[in-house]
Amino acid sequence: MQTQAVEDYLKTIFEIEHERGSVATTVLAERLGVTPASVTGMVKKLADMHLVDYERYQGVVLTSAGRKIALEVIRHHRLLELYLAEALGVPWDRVHEEADKWEHILSEDLEDRMDALLGFPTTDPHGSPIPSRAGDIASPVQTRLVDLAPGQVAVLVEVSDHDPGLLRHLGEAGLYPATSIRVVARAGGEMTVCAGDRQYVVSDADAAHMFVRDVRSDLAQETA
Ligand SMILES: [Zn+2]
Repeated sequence: MQTQAVEDYLKTIFEIEHERGSVATTVLAERLGVTPASVTGMVKKLADMHLVDYERYQGVVLTSAGRKIALEVIRHHRLLELYLAEALGVPWDRVHEEADKWEHILSEDLEDRMDALLGFPTTDPHGSPIPSRAGDIASPVQTRLVDLAPGQVAVLVEVSDHDPGLLRHLGEAGLYPATSIRVVARAGGEMTVCAGDRQYVVSDADAAHMFVRDVRSDLAQETA
């Protein structure tokens, strides 16, 4: 029996493993908003179903069967987010909450139709990779905006989809994935970044949930 709760656990375990390399039950409890005791109970159930392996000091590890289900749910979630944003015009700070509901009931037929309609996309509106039908997924981008120094230039590629407030703030500023940004200054727990000819202030806490690639020094700045 594959309930919605099972799918939510497997998806969340995969996401934490993808971000941190290992999955502690305390982190899982925090992310799911449940008590550590209920996580322990559910993890035992998942282990009985051969969907995870659990060693007290090593944390939770998905089995290949668990990983397959997790990637299928994540594929649904991310395709739905893109469909809601592109086809229905839902703002990017609201698609995550909607997709969390629909991801469990999306049929394979609708999944394929959405995929084709969207032109077989590889990333969702937040820049996260969409797993393929075969269950392959691109490696995560590891460099966080908060780790950059003034004078460095990079391309924003991904923003965590778990904080609608941050997404709203970035959306109002037009800071979407694929935007080139330059770090202008850092002080007092805030970063000033510029994109095009506009400047924005982002808190360090928010910048820890924004990921970048193609980091380099701004040569124009250096030779000036
Ligand atoms: Zn999402």
